[in-house]
Amino acid sequence: MEFVDSHKITAKERKYYKGKLEKMLSELEEGSGETVQEMKDTNQEFPDPTDRANYESERNTALRIRDRERKLIKKIRSAIVRLEEDEYNVCKECGEYIRKQRLDARPVTTLCINCKELEEQKEKTQQI
Ligand SMILES: [Zn+2]
Repeated sequence: MEFVDSHKITAKERKYYKGKLEKMLSELEEGSGETVQEMKDTNQEFPDPTDRANYESERNTALRIRDRERKLIKKIRSAIVRLEEDEYNVCKECGEYIRKQRLDARPVTTLCINCKELEEQKEKTQQI
């Protein structure tokens, strides 16, 4: 994809980003459907406690993945809304424009690279 060197998102670019976001969304929705099905199928009794423990840790992993997927789905949906409202490439934190190449690599980001780096630094110091 060739991006126009301007902050304004062109109609062609909008279509490109939207297609990309919608593809991510449909892939995620298909995937989470499968997880739900699998979990229903394995809802059973376990004679061996080891099997039960394995099942539960698998179930926990599946739930964690689904939780992450749900959050990502939310982010994708709000990115599509921002795209329609012409705010897709505006940084939520400082109001500067997010580079188009950055949005291409991280289609759900709401932060410009500077704010993202600041946020990561903050997260690091909080963890210590
Ligand atoms: Zn920013």
